[in-house]
Amino acid sequence: MKELKILYLYPDILDLYGDIGNIKILKYRLEQRGIKAIIDNYSINDEKPDFESYDIIFAGGGADNEQQILSEDLIKYKEEIKLAKEKGVFLLLICGAYQLFGKYYKGVEGNIIPGLEIFNYYTKANQNRSQRCIGNIVIDVSLNNNIKTKVIGFENHGGQTYEINNSFGKVLYGNGNKFGDECEGYMEKNVIATYLHRTTSFKKS
Ligand code: GLN
Repeated sequence: MKELKILYLYPDILDLYGDIGNIKILKYRLEQRGIKAIIDNYSINDEKPDFESYDIIFAGGGADNEQQILSEDLIKYKEEIKLAKEKGVFLLLICGAYQLFGKYYKGVEGNIIPGLEIFNYYTKANQNRSQRCIGNIVIDVSLNNNIKTKVIGFENHGGQTYEINNSFGKVLYGNGNKFGDECEGYMEKNVIATYLHRTTSFKKS
């Protein structure tokens, strides 16, 4: 039986709005295709994972506080995660994790949470705490093999992300990387980083 290995980073800290659903649906869909899903969790104080040995690395969203709590631990693996990504391990990153893989996250108080610097974008929290990008969002996505699809999800972030050179999708409804942005998320051949929680996708007819 074929196997696919998934590393789920900080499931106990980064699971805002049910991001674990991504893991559940991946497992279900793999099994429907006769592929066994091996899912390993990693969190603070666990043994160092062999990042390169995975097919997918997944991490979900979390509030600024949670990002602060785990950032020191995550940074320890900066080089290993970067190498794994360069070797083709797929990164699926939601919201707070999306932000942490960039250069930094600047909080409302001006505090800097360092990122992994694997990507060149950076994020700054909106100065007004009560003004956040919240609500349902729909984006038009063109996947690497040119499959066109719409992705629907829910966004809730104060962070505004800058310097995106290749977005995940074009915003049809909602905010995206910043208030009223045209672009949402970040994408590379083996990377999907997005603000969308609880996503569903459907092909264009
Ligand atoms: N702390 C981040 C923000 O508010 C991320 C929130 C999230 O993961 N939904 O921008």
